[in-house]
Amino acid sequence: MKKIAFLLALATLGFSCSSSEESKEEVSYNHENDQAATTESVEAEPMTESENVAIVEIESNDQMKYNLAEIRVKAGQKVQLTLKHVGKLPKASMGHNFVLLKDGTDMAKFAMAAGQARENDYIAEEGSIIAHTKIIGGGESDMIEFDAPALGIYDFVCSFPGHYAIMKGKFIVE
Ligand code: ZN
Repeated sequence: MKKIAFLLALATLGFSCSSSEESKEEVSYNHENDQAATTESVEAEPMTESENVAIVEIESNDQMKYNLAEIRVKAGQKVQLTLKHVGKLPKASMGHNFVLLKDGTDMAKFAMAAGQARENDYIAEEGSIIAHTKIIGGGESDMIEFDAPALGIYDFVCSFPGHYAIMKGKFIVE
């Protein structure tokens, strides 16, 4: 008799477990749909950090600053990077992006050229770029995926006109 009660309890437990998992999945699915609807360029599904995947979140603000001066990933990792603009100003006046430059790129020269490429979302000299987000305004975010480049130290920069002098940092592959 006791054994039957125990089995029944197990069965109930199993049932409630699986039904709560189902509803969790539904919630995250809807959330992804929302993001896709509001942020056009989200092509990638959010990934989880692992040996092979580096998840990077970097913020930018109305004070023309990133919250990180340094980003570290491991060679061979896939990098999923999200740039968030936590300010309120529109992208026309305080737009930000994240541009990762190839080794040996003259940052000032690149930034001058990109800063004039308004019609191309402030992207120029694409041969010098490893990866970049789009330009975003306050409250927006953009997520990109790329393979970590070879071991080394790379520059990242915001190519909105006049921002590169302050909005820059080191992307370190170790
Ligand atoms: Zn900027």
